Amino acid sequence: VRERQQQLLHTPAVTQDGQAVELLANIEFPADCEVAIAAGAVGVGLFRSEFLFMGREGVLPDEHEQYLAYKEAVLAMKGLPVTIRTVDIGADKLLHSASHQGRSEWDQSPLGLRAIRWSLSSPEMFRTQLRALLRAAVHGPLNILLPMLSHFSQVQEARAQLELSRQELRAVQVPFGEVRLGAMVEVPAAALMVEQFLDDVDFVSIGSNDLTQYTLAVDRTNEAVAHLFDATHPAVLQLIAHVIAQCHKRGKHVSVCGEIAGDPMVTDLLLGLGLTSFSMHPVQLLQVKERIVHANASQLADWARQVLASNTPHTLIAQHAHVEQ
Ligand code: PEP
Ligand code: MG
Repeated sequence: VRERQQQLLHTPAVTQDGQAVELLANIEFPADCEVAIAAGAVGVGLFRSEFLFMGREGVLPDEHEQYLAYKEAVLAMKGLPVTIRTVDIGADKLLHSASHQGRSEWDQSPLGLRAIRWSLSSPEMFRTQLRALLRAAVHGPLNILLPMLSHFSQVQEARAQLELSRQELRAVQVPFGEVRLGAMVEVPAAALMVEQFLDDVDFVSIGSNDLTQYTLAVDRTNEAVAHLFDATHPAVLQLIAHVIAQCHKRGKHVSVCGEIAGDPMVTDLLLGLGLTSFSMHPVQLLQVKERIVHANASQLADWARQVLASNTPHTLIAQHAHVEQ
């Protein structure tokens, strides 16, 4: 097994029919970059920036502290792109409970003031993060990803804050770099109306975890309904397929950064839907690559259409994985 892993590490992620696939890492701390590189990731597709904001009794990290953390990640990736998500946390959670009780606590109000909603409602806090990101972009390719968008006007507002942040840095003569701006599609409204977002962003990343939660009305953190949480539910798959197709039509880069991107059972389906960029926990990377190097993406397209039209995609996916092994 270890020999095969070594072999895979040095094998490019290309399908049998020659489709190159980008395999990226999801990370939570700058130090995770080492693990990402060791697993063969060609960049960071999702750097969750929440660690900077948690466990500190409501005291927000300042621009310098954030800049150092983002710079560390960018430098550690040695020229490979790093996609950093702006903070995905809610104000109330941050101030009252996130510091001690961790993620499950702040996920308890999934419909509340979290992620981009909180950022846009606290523009000073948001611009502090944006300035730190812009400054870190001096050290290598950096993309900014906006979480939990539900209306395209939120991208426009974020863009305005980004421009204001540039002006603020210019005013104090602090150098900053170019960034690309991306939209996370993880709310059904954003998935259905993704075309409206595409004029204002450089790329899209599908957050299948929240997309599943919001499409199926199943709280991700509630064990009593965990059996209903299914990222391969036909409705979720239809939305993912729609987003991939729309992005391709408009020539926008699209990747999936939710858990299904790292699930080798679902790799063939995502390839069949035309996905060429996957971002996942680094430990999943070689297993997914193993599926990719054995897959024939163009042949999978027909099968993927059947799966999408089925009311039991789960069964078809499981049968297919069984046959392929
Ligand atoms: C997602 O929702 O799929 C995602 C990648 O973000 P998080 O899991 O951090 O909410
Ligand atoms: Mg999410």
